[in-house]
Amino acid sequence: MKVNIVGGGLAGVEAAFALARRGIYVNLFEMKPKKFSEVHSSSNLAEVVCSNSFGSTKLTTASGVLKEEMRILDSTLLKAAALSRVEAGTALAVDRKKFSSIITKWVDKHPKIKLIRDRVAKLNDEDIWIVACGPLCDGELIEYIKREVLKGDFLYFFDAIAPIVYADSVDFTKGFWGSRYSDEKDYFNCVLTEDEYNRFYKELIKAEKVEFKEFEKNYYEACLPVEEIAERGKETLLYGPLKPVGLKFKGKTPFAVVQLRKENREGTLLSLVGFQTKLTYREQKRVLRLIPALRNAEFAKFGSLHRNTYINSPEVLNIYLQAKKKPNVYFAGQITGVEGYMASGATGIYVGMNIALLLKKGKMLKPPENTMLGGLIRYITTPKDERGGKVTKVSFQPMSENFGFIEVGKVKNKKVKRERQAEVALENMRVWREKYESEFA
Ligand SMILES: Cc1cc2nc3c(=O)[nH]c(=O)nc-3n(C[C@H](O)[C@H](O)[C@H](O)COP(=O)(O)OP(=O)(O)OC[C@H]3O[C@@H](n4cnc5c(N)ncnc54)[C@H](O)[C@@H]3O)c2cc1C
Repeated sequence: MKVNIVGGGLAGVEAAFALARRGIYVNLFEMKPKKFSEVHSSSNLAEVVCSNSFGSTKLTTASGVLKEEMRILDSTLLKAAALSRVEAGTALAVDRKKFSSIITKWVDKHPKIKLIRDRVAKLNDEDIWIVACGPLCDGELIEYIKREVLKGDFLYFFDAIAPIVYADSVDFTKGFWGSRYSDEKDYFNCVLTEDEYNRFYKELIKAEKVEFKEFEKNYYEACLPVEEIAERGKETLLYGPLKPVGLKFKGKTPFAVVQLRKENREGTLLSLVGFQTKLTYREQKRVLRLIPALRNAEFAKFGSLHRNTYINSPEVLNIYLQAKKKPNVYFAGQITGVEGYMASGATGIYVGMNIALLLKKGKMLKPPENTMLGGLIRYITTPKDERGGKVTKVSFQPMSENFGFIEVGKVKNKKVKRERQAEVALENMRVWREKYESEFA
C-alpha cells in the first residue's frame, strides 16, 4: 500500500520523514511552483509564510514545551531550525530561506521520499492519504474532500476566535457564576462599573489593530470584531457582548458584564464570549486586563480573525486524525484545527508515526495523556457533546498549544506550576516514545 501526502508544508514534511525514517516509501505531492496560494511565494518546501519565529524555547511557555516534545519525537523541522537559527533572544527564529532550502534538499535526497510537484484534486481508495494542504488549501481538493471524504459540510473558511484565558489567573471575586435568565452556573460574569466600562471603552477604540489582508476582506462581514462594534457608538457594546440584561449581582443589574465560558471539560480554559478581535496581541493583553476580573489574566490564546480553511475535526476525525467516513484518509496540520507552524508540524509527526506502526504492526497508538501534543489531538477530536457545559453550543474553533492541557493539581506559585507541567509533559512524551519503539520493534 502506498502512502501519499498532499502538501509539502510544515505538517506534510514532518509526516513524510516520520514515515520514511521507518522504512516506508512516501509520495509527497506539492503543487508549488505550478500553483501558489495567496501567501506562498517560494518553491521550496516547509515555507514559513509570515513570522520567522517558532516561538519561545523556554520550558515555562507552552510553545517551548511543545517544541521539546517534538524533539523527543525526532522533529525534522527542529533539526533544520537548529541549522538555520538567527538571533532572537529566547525565541527560536530562523532564516526562512535557509530553513526551507535545507528541508527541500533533505527531501530531494531521501531515498524513500518521492517529491511530486503536482496539484492533487482527488484521493483514490487504494492508497493511504495524509491531507496536509494547510490553511489555504487548493479549492478543487477542498470541494472533493467536502463531497467524498467528509460527506457533508464540515469545513470552515474563516476563524473568528475570542481570547482564551487560564482560569487560575482570573480574579473570581470580581464577578459571579450564572447564566442569563436561568439558574445555571455556566458562565463567569466579570462585572464592570460605569467608570470601569468607560475606561475600558476608551482604550478599546484607540488600541492598535492588525489590518485584514486583501484576500481576507470578503470573509469577515458575518462576524464583527469587538472593537469594531465599539466604534459604532459608546453604547453599542452594552447591547452586544457586554450587555448585562438577565443578570443580577448583589441584587442589582450590573452596568456591564463580560462573560467567560468554559473551553474544556476540566474548566482550566475560559474564553471571552463574543470577543473576536483584530487587536494586536500586545493590545489585547493591555486592554482586556482593564476588566477587573482579568487584571492579572494570563492568555492561553489571543483572539484573531483570519482566513483559515479547517475541518470540523471533532465530528469527522477519530483520535488518530483518520476520517471516520473514509479510513484510508488522514489529516495533519492546520487543516485539522490546530494553529501555528509548530502545532501543525507536531500533528504531522503523530500521524506519520502512527501510519508507520499501522503498516508494520497493524495498530496505532493514542497520543500520550498530559502533554501538549496529546492535549491538542484530544481537543480537536473530542466531539462537542462530550465536552460538557455550554461548550456544546459553540462551533469548533482552532486551538494552539497551552498549559490548560496539562493537569498537575493545585500549585500556588505560577512559575513552579509551569515547571512542574513541563516536567510532567516531557516525561509522558518520553514514556510514549519508548512504548512506541517497543511496539514498532
Ligand atoms: C497569512 C498567514 C499568516 C500566518 N502567520 C503565522 C505566524 O506568524 N506564525 C505561525 O506559527 N503560523 C502562522 N500562520 C499559520 C501557518 O502558516 C500554519 O500553521 C502552517 O504553515 C500550517 O502548516 P501546514 O503544513 O498545515 O500547511 P502549509 O505550511 O500551508 O502547507 C500546505 C502546503 O500544501 C500545498 N498544497 C495545498 N493544496 C495542495 C494540493 N491540492 N495539492 C498539492 N499541494 C497542495 C501548499 O502549496 C503548501 O505548500 C499563518 C498563516 C497564514 C495564512
